[in-house]
This record gives sequence, C-alpha cells and structure tokens, in this order.
Amino acid sequence: MRFADLPHAVGPDQAGKEMHGFLAELYPICRSITGNGVRETLDRIGERIPLEIEEVPTGTSVFDWTVPMEWNIRGAYIESLRGERIIDFSECNLHVVGYSTPIRRRMPVAELREHIFTLPDRHDWIPYRTSYYNEAWGFCLSQRQLDELRDEEYEICIDSTLENGHLTYGECYLAGEQPDEVLVSCHVCHPSLCNDNLSGVAVATALATALASVSRRYSYRFLFIPGTIGSITWLARNEDRVSQIKHGLVLTCVGDPGDSTYKRSRRGDAEIDRAFEHVLRHSGNGYEVQDFFPYGYDERQYCSPGFDLPVGCLMRTPHGRFPEYHTSADNLELVRPEYLADTLHKCLLTFDVLERNRTYLNLNPKCEPQLGRRGLYQAIGGGADHRIEELAMLWVLNQSDGSKTLLDVAVKADLPFATVARAAEMLHEHGLVEEVSAS
Ligand code: ZN
Repeated sequence: MRFADLPHAVGPDQAGKEMHGFLAELYPICRSITGNGVRETLDRIGERIPLEIEEVPTGTSVFDWTVPMEWNIRGAYIESLRGERIIDFSECNLHVVGYSTPIRRRMPVAELREHIFTLPDRHDWIPYRTSYYNEAWGFCLSQRQLDELRDEEYEICIDSTLENGHLTYGECYLAGEQPDEVLVSCHVCHPSLCNDNLSGVAVATALATALASVSRRYSYRFLFIPGTIGSITWLARNEDRVSQIKHGLVLTCVGDPGDSTYKRSRRGDAEIDRAFEHVLRHSGNGYEVQDFFPYGYDERQYCSPGFDLPVGCLMRTPHGRFPEYHTSADNLELVRPEYLADTLHKCLLTFDVLERNRTYLNLNPKCEPQLGRRGLYQAIGGGADHRIEELAMLWVLNQSDGSKTLLDVAVKADLPFATVARAAEMLHEHGLVEEVSAS
C-alpha cells in the first residue's frame, strides 16, 4: 500500500474500538515510573508491535538526574478494628500515593488523616498523587470515604517495596528507506488513568501497527517511557543518535471529546509544527495551536536547549483543563473510541505530509505550459473537484522555483496537502516538474 492511501485505509470504527479495547485491557494495571506495572504494560504492547525492552539500573546518572529506586506494590488497605476493610487497593490502585514507602500498623484516625488526600469539592472522585523524589506514604480517598472514617483507630497497611532495581522502557523501531527518523513518544507511568496516559499509549500502538503495513521514506521510533525521568534517561543513553530525529510528537490526553490541541516545538516553525497545523486547519473540526511553553510532558526534555529537537505535543483537551484530570474520573467513559480514531487519523494525515513533502522545479517556467494539450485541463463544465485539482496544478507550477516545498505551496494556496501533492504527481508524470531534493 502507498503511504498516501494509509490514512483512508484505516477504518475509524474498527480502529476506535480496537484502541478502546486495548485501553480497557491496560486500565487495571498499577503503573508508576518504575516497577512491574510498567513491565506488564510493555509486555501487552509487545504483543501488538515489535518492542525492545530496556532496563536501566537504579543509581544510573542521566544528566542532572539519577535513576530512582524501583517501586512495587502488592496491596494496601485501611481496616477497622472489627476487621472491615474500608479502603482496598485491589478495588482502585489510585488509593495509594505512588511510591509510598511500606507501612503496617494500628494508627489513631487523627494521625491517619494527615496522610489522606481527597478532593473536597468532588465527593466521589479519588485524586491521583505521587511522591517520587521524597520518601513518604499516603492514601487517596474520595471525600465521601473520608467522611465515613468515624472510629478512633484503624489498622493500616501498604505492602510495597522501594529498593534497588531498574527503570524500564520500551522502544519500537520501524526502519524506513532513510535513517532520518520520526519520533513518537508517550508516557507509561500512570496507574488507572485513561486520557492522561493510556490514550497516548493506545494511539501510539495503533500508529506503529498502521505504519508497519506501508513502505516508508522515514524510519519511525516509538518510545513508551515513564514521564520526565524516562525521556531524560533515553536522551542520556542516545545522545549520539538524536541528530537523526527530523520530526517528533509527544502524544497525551488524546481520547477525550475536546478539540485537538497541538503545541508547537520550541523551534516554533519546524516542519512537524507547520504540517500539524495545516492538517488541523483542513480537518473541518475546531482546533487549537499553542506556542511552546516549558511545562507539560516529555516535550520539555526533547525541547530543552541542549537538544532543541523538532518535537511537538498533540493533545485534545490539555492537562489541567478538564476536571477529570488526575482523578478516578479520568476513566474508560471519558475516553471514547471515536476521539481516539480521530486523533489517529490526524496523526496519519500529518505523517503523510512529512512522507510526501518534496521540492519541485517547474521545467517550463516561462509562461504557463499548455495543460489542455496534455490532457491536464478537464473539459469545460468539469465539477468542483476538477477545478480544485486544476487550481492546485497552477499553484504547484507557479510556486515551484526550487525553493518551496509542497507544504509551502499547500499553505500559501490554502488547499489540502493531499490535493497539492496529487497535482505535483500528475505534473511530474507529464514531465512538467522535476524533484529538486527531498525536503
Ligand atoms: Zn499526568
């Protein structure tokens, strides 16, 4: 299959259902920045796409950071002295603050309350909290559950371990005709949270599956890493290879009903920035494009000044702008199959721009060539589609002085890239333009 046919070959209903099904499979796993939950998640991804799994030992220096101790948890509870289990980790893994140190003892309720986090204005939602770089323990409860703790004392247990081990991440590499790479990165470090975390994993896995089925100009590298420390670790171990990254995308919060939001790379005018904005503009849907800012996800590391990689970030509703963010309400109902499928489609359209973006030279630059004689002008009265195709040909001919890419032409003409690329292909077939160089 040609790359150009791929965005239309992936059926949105089927793709959406598959991605949501994968999300539901990963949802119960308790993930963190290290530990067996990440390994299990990577194993499931590895059942779908070729995945290399890397283990980096605790204590490894990565730029200004150190790979932390590995955290694992088997269970946790708050029990009344009568033996009733009031809070149980097995019912919801958000109940324990991520990276909690182990504890098991009887405790007065006043002391226990100092280690409990709730959302007072959302009575039934459980917050998501972590304490990665500061040894602590705690429970997260709904406000309603906290209000029910009326006894003087409770039996509490967090059966966790925090010890030397590894940081684990997964990497899927799809070789293309060129060593130049497109990087797709998503984090795999949140427990049962769907939009902020698993939506990115599901779309990245579906993208890798789709891209594996077509011939590609670029090589594609997919990273499934713990947020922040994972991208820092990957960059520290691959510093000699990053110059091959020509375009990149961080995927997060890509399954909610909100409009697509694209956050530009630090460069601001990288080809991926212009390509994504172009695709969103012609999508027929509302969208938002944001300039880079040094807060958010792993684009912070890829776009740090020592790397300054052309890596943007794709979201729907950005983190912090939907009330379910980092709570138990970021669940399988918030993320819907049709929005995952829509995100997948927009990524494929953008990659199609990157794959087919070329610079052409008009071989007949003095006045317009006679298109009718070559059968390139349709008979009078042709439909609107033909008129757009003809207009696209005129744009390509006029702009192809060897300095402008097809994306430049599409932006200037305000025509969809695919229409402009098809016009260029026709002109090329008729010997009217030649390719100057791969952009
Ligand atoms: Zn998050």
